Amino acid sequence: MTTLPHDDLAATWRNARPRAAGIHLDTAACSRQSTAVLDSVARHARHEAEIGGYVAEVAAERLLQQGRSVLSGLVGLAAADLAFTESASASVRTLFSRWRLAPGSTVAVLPGEYWHNLAVLADAGLVPVVLPADGDGRVDLAAAERVLRDSPPTLVHVTLVASHRGVVQPGRELAALCRAAGVPLVLDVAQALGHVDCDLGADAVYGTSRKWLAGPRGVGFLAMRPAVTARLTPVVGPALYDNGGPDVDHARWYESHDAHVAGRVGLVVAVGEHLAAGPHRVRERLAALGRATRERLDGRGGWSAAEPLDEPTAITTMRPPADVDVPATVRRLRETAGIVVTGIGEERARSELNGPVLRVSPHVDATVEELDALAVALVS
Ligand SMILES: *Cc1c(COP(=O)(O)O)cnc(C)c1O
Repeated sequence: MTTLPHDDLAATWRNARPRAAGIHLDTAACSRQSTAVLDSVARHARHEAEIGGYVAEVAAERLLQQGRSVLSGLVGLAAADLAFTESASASVRTLFSRWRLAPGSTVAVLPGEYWHNLAVLADAGLVPVVLPADGDGRVDLAAAERVLRDSPPTLVHVTLVASHRGVVQPGRELAALCRAAGVPLVLDVAQALGHVDCDLGADAVYGTSRKWLAGPRGVGFLAMRPAVTARLTPVVGPALYDNGGPDVDHARWYESHDAHVAGRVGLVVAVGEHLAAGPHRVRERLAALGRATRERLDGRGGWSAAEPLDEPTAITTMRPPADVDVPATVRRLRETAGIVVTGIGEERARSELNGPVLRVSPHVDATVEELDALAVALVS
């Protein structure tokens, strides 16, 4: 019989939000927000209607600054280093459009790099150099060290946990190699923050609100060391900046002047809930849920899990049997069993997927019974 750690966490998490209609195993797409987060977003929007949007923003500034401090702390940086953005995608677009690296500059990536990130690099005229990885898509550190020594790229960009495969990259070791080689490391933690440790020593880190942190959609962040922002060119320089003047914190130039501030407030509340739950406890329970998912699903009806059984993540991606259609299975699970999961197409990571996979991603409230129900429904 499977027992999961920290059942109190599951109960607290479940009771803190609206009841799920069905079985939600889709955190890697979008979490269920808590009632407190939903209320904080609504309250800020209401406050805007009462006292004016910009007055309400000033009133929320202390809370937002606490949020910058806590969020940046989770990725090993400081409050002044963090800009709220509209999404992880918006963050990476801002980073590379403002870095203005010479076209032809090389960026080391892994074979499973997220398709949108590769598109952003291509759009900036940058040339991806693929670092060697093992069969799971995990970077080969010895080979990476050789590349960094013999033909160092301009920078290294790594997605810490991929959206198409729940494998964690050795970010801390990679950060140490990059630091030794004097090459900046950029981490995409959209699937990692609130899920695995992201305080690893990277130079720039970006992510999103709605996945493992369970904040609102349409909010993200971009955190950068001062040494990175020193190399960026803001569209509007500090002299013209009307959102705090030339003394504004260095990352703030990369925040949108106008934004869904209510959503940022909601993210700050969600991050507070994550801290209150205990990031270590959350990680332990999520890792146990990933293992429990793979134990139940791997080999069932010809489906196979892509991740090692003990990979410390709650993302499991299932390769289908030869004659089974993934999108149809995702639809069937939702319509007949009320189970929400995602179908991932191979376009998301063409060098690691040769067909669609079905992704299961429970949050801490998931139960063994729900995973059992999925195992039954998958093959019925
Ligand atoms: C979801 C995801 C993104 C994009 O996040 P948005 O907030 O939707 O822009 C980027 N990278 C990875 C690895 C993701 O899973």
